[in-house]
Amino acid sequence: MLAVEGLEKSFSAKGDVVRAVDDVTFDVADGELLVLLGPSGCGKTTVLRCIAGHETAQGGSIRLAGEPVFDAARGVDLPPERRRIGMVFQNYALWPHLTVQRNIEFPLRAQKMKAELAAGDAVQQAAGLVDCVPYLQRFPSELSGGQQQRVALARGLVAGPRFMLFDEPLSNLDALLRAQVRHDLHELHRTVGFSGIYVTHDQSEAFALGDRLAIMRAGRVEQIGTPQEIYGRPLTEYAANFVGLSNRLELEPGGAGAWTLRGGPGREVPVDAGGACDALTLRFRPHDVDLLPGTTTDYDGLVLEGRVADSVYEGRHYDVSVTAGSATLNVHVAAAEGARLGPGDPVRIGLRWHDGSWFG
Ligand code: ADP
Ligand code: MG
Repeated sequence: MLAVEGLEKSFSAKGDVVRAVDDVTFDVADGELLVLLGPSGCGKTTVLRCIAGHETAQGGSIRLAGEPVFDAARGVDLPPERRRIGMVFQNYALWPHLTVQRNIEFPLRAQKMKAELAAGDAVQQAAGLVDCVPYLQRFPSELSGGQQQRVALARGLVAGPRFMLFDEPLSNLDALLRAQVRHDLHELHRTVGFSGIYVTHDQSEAFALGDRLAIMRAGRVEQIGTPQEIYGRPLTEYAANFVGLSNRLELEPGGAGAWTLRGGPGREVPVDAGGACDALTLRFRPHDVDLLPGTTTDYDGLVLEGRVADSVYEGRHYDVSVTAGSATLNVHVAAAEGARLGPGDPVRIGLRWHDGSWFG
């Protein structure tokens, strides 16, 4: 449906050149929603703006349903209204002086879709999809943030776009509404079956909505795959951090193929790293860590001794910081066990071998 190849976009700001998008290549299949996931400033919005035609890239090409809408080498650059792409932004961007009806109609007017305007079906249908028919005659200021964002969704869908772009559309909503609108969006994607790209810096949103995720870092795509692929096998530490593998331990060769914790208690770790590197990093998730009784000897994994530095109650579990050697680890401990732990208490924690990800 969409094919982006070798996209390049730099900005010059105060004499510096910022490579906002640096050789980005990916495609989106028909009916697929691809999530671009990455921290603020990594180039997500710029990628979307290039696809929509609001920004002209310096290199690469963009094809939509087989048609080149941008090609730097051949001088192709279709204006936004000829690309037939729907957009939904973070800040709703509704016109305050227009009713909901007029706001939703806006893309039809901009694209001079007179027949659709006259019939009014498209507006009714789009409004119906996101339950905003009851307030078609109200003004945006008379709606809640969640309702406004639903109107923005209807406006994005009204012209029957070939492709949808969402730029952090939920980030201005409070947590409860965010979950609701996220659910609506997911259902809408299933029922309407649009193809598109959804930008976020939130992992749970990315997992909930994305058929595939592209992890972005400093203008580049670092890894692309299904949520399951990236969760199970992040290719870089950067990707690992994005899918919750927030704990980090460094190991160094301990002789005879064994590895020991750097600056740690000197326990040997049976890792076969092929001897090709001189340091290893282990990444793991806070909820993959087991709290072990003092006597465990037959645990099939890494066992660490440490002390509780801090403990925060989070309802179902305690989020416990443990210092072990030079490392500080985050560990989720079940509420019943966590209630017994306080700062300074000694703990033994275990990590099963297959629950960690290794990076050489
Ligand atoms: P994200 O959406 O991931 O937060 P952006 O695409 O907005 O990232 O920005 C990527 C980089 O490009 C940032 O360093 C940003 O400062 C820079 N940038 C974006 N737009 C402009 C612009 N119009 N002029 C100068 N620099 C820009
Ligand atoms: Mg952005």
